[in-house]
Amino acid sequence: MSVYEEYLTCEQAIDGLRESLSKGEKTYDMARIDRAIAVACEAHNGQKRYSGDDYVCHPLRVATILAGLGMDTETIIAAVLHDVVEDTPLELADIEREFGSSVATLVDGVTKITKMPFSTKEEQQAENVRKMLLAMSQDVRVIIIKLADRLHNMRTSSGWYEQKRRDKARETLDIYAPIAHRLGIRAIKEELEDISLHLLDPVACAEIEENLSLRAEERTAFLDDIQTRISERLKEYDLTAYVCGRVKSINGIYRKMYMQGRNFDEIYDVYAVRIIVDTVNDCYNVLGVVHDMFHPLPNRFKDYISTPKSNMYQSLHTTVISHEKIPFEVQIRTWEMHHTAEYGIAAHWKYKLGIQKKDRLEDRLAWVRQFIENQQETDDAEEFVRSIKTDLSSDDVFVFTPRGKVVNLPSGSTVIDFAYAIHSEVGNRMVGAKVDGRIVPIDYQVKTGEIVEVLTTSAQNHGPSRDWLQVVKTSEARSKIRLWYKRERREENIEKGREELEREISRNCIRFTESELQEFLEQQCKRQHCATVDDFYAAIGYGGILLSRLIPRMKEDYQRMVKNAAAAAKPTPIVSTRPHRHHNGGVIIENMDNCLVKYARCCNPVPGDEIVGFITRGYGVSVHKRDCVNVPVNLANASEPERWVHVEWEDSIREEFKAVLRVLANDRMQLLADVTTQLANMHVMIYGMQARAPRQGEGEMLITVGVNGVQHLQEVIARLKRIDGVISIERSGA
Ligand code: MN
Repeated sequence: MSVYEEYLTCEQAIDGLRESLSKGEKTYDMARIDRAIAVACEAHNGQKRYSGDDYVCHPLRVATILAGLGMDTETIIAAVLHDVVEDTPLELADIEREFGSSVATLVDGVTKITKMPFSTKEEQQAENVRKMLLAMSQDVRVIIIKLADRLHNMRTSSGWYEQKRRDKARETLDIYAPIAHRLGIRAIKEELEDISLHLLDPVACAEIEENLSLRAEERTAFLDDIQTRISERLKEYDLTAYVCGRVKSINGIYRKMYMQGRNFDEIYDVYAVRIIVDTVNDCYNVLGVVHDMFHPLPNRFKDYISTPKSNMYQSLHTTVISHEKIPFEVQIRTWEMHHTAEYGIAAHWKYKLGIQKKDRLEDRLAWVRQFIENQQETDDAEEFVRSIKTDLSSDDVFVFTPRGKVVNLPSGSTVIDFAYAIHSEVGNRMVGAKVDGRIVPIDYQVKTGEIVEVLTTSAQNHGPSRDWLQVVKTSEARSKIRLWYKRERREENIEKGREELEREISRNCIRFTESELQEFLEQQCKRQHCATVDDFYAAIGYGGILLSRLIPRMKEDYQRMVKNAAAAAKPTPIVSTRPHRHHNGGVIIENMDNCLVKYARCCNPVPGDEIVGFITRGYGVSVHKRDCVNVPVNLANASEPERWVHVEWEDSIREEFKAVLRVLANDRMQLLADVTTQLANMHVMIYGMQARAPRQGEGEMLITVGVNGVQHLQEVIARLKRIDGVISIERSGA
């Protein structure tokens, strides 16, 4: 078998088209079609195809294929003219003037698809291209013309060089055959697949053909016998049916042999018998007769009548075994189903199918449903055709990168969404965008078929604008913008994370030595997959790591460390996360002498505060304020009441105690300077100061000061309160 079409002269091509048009039952406006043929011949005059024949033969043959599908006059005219805008001086306006706007729209649609720079390298990409083609062809006839165009190009591909043949074959299998399948146009689908397969794997195809031809007579005899037997039996039951047998398509056999790894002889459905009847009831009656005649194979019965395929295909399928023990598939359908199976959506033009039962269609594709509902409302063919705008992808837009990759975005997406869909770095470095070569505003919403180019900068510190968060449509872009802010504000995040961790550590009365803290942090980094301690802090800072989850584990680790240390019996100096000056003294502990004392950092008690002590495991007594959050209100009911001890301040204390003040103020210049000046004037040591702006126009300072008691602290607070702009001061950790 040759997959290639023979050489034709221009006259032969014209005759072929006329013959094909006259053969069908449809009536065509031959005057308009003849005018289109004349225009095309004139426009393409002198142009040759790579095969050497006149260029105009190609559009004429494409029109002939469409005539075979029974397409309407406008489709035939558009097919005849489909390459003139692209390849000749004629313009779309000329076509519109001469043949009307709907022919012009069809030609324009085909031209646009032909010009699209897509390439298909991966599965996902192919899927996008298919959806885009369907979305782009506002009128489904555009796609049908394009399918015929591709079919003719494949039929005449013998003149192409090897690589082009393979690329086009691949593209045909990936894009066009599935679209033909989706639209249900079986004849075109199978031929596209068979030709492509011959180009991609000629050896395997030759093998299959040889196998088929080997005992060809035997096969024909087998099918004839089956057909006759079925026909006769059906007659006995008064069932009128058309029965025909065939060998399945090469592509179907190929897929089973090479993708399912079967032998040629193992393939059941090399043979198929098709039984076409008048009514749906007869389909089921025939099925009963067939199952009575032949033994059915289990699990091979499929009822596509009650559950049609998404491309509208309907039939009953069953596989049975002949008396010679040869399995074969039986397909049973009505004539109407048969037309739909052969021509799919094109059957509308060929047979003007009326589809009566709405309920059967409920589960089909939305656009098919609309297609049918519109038909019920109006018999006006023009109106009907206009209404078959594929709403398949109305929620999606498909745009190109400059290199021909198709990107699928939700409708309403902007060029920013596009940039982030390409890569975060492209989005982060974006400074502008071009659509179809023209600069557009950053909030420009992309439309299907546009080529989008993102303009980027290589400047080091460039990043997205916060305003973009209001503009973008996709959550992908939004989260990538947020992520950038997380990363780029690293210093801030590290500081915040460190503070939070220290606060939690002290709130939980965990006391680490410097080396223990280091060890703990390293452990945590490993556990949280952070490369460095700073990464760990930063992750806490932006909320990537939740401290509330971390703390219980941390406590356990701490207990273990403490136990190990106790077992080793090494006296360890008590150091909190920040070295504390108090080693001993300052308080009197009930019934205890020479005991290590430290002041809890969760509440930082100062002399004068009411206090209480807690006997820690191996680290002496930790002194808290009585009203510290970590001290139970009722000590007698605490889980280990014996560990809470009564402590009092010594009468004479020379030492200095740290207290943390939280100062809230209206933010203004010099505020910080005024605060520090006041503290210096009072000879109060400042051990630490952090400032941040919780809200616009407000400043919050955490100041760690050294005081010698509550009295002293009150004086300091009173003094700071007098500073202009200070709203409130409270002791932190109380
Ligand atoms: Mn063409």
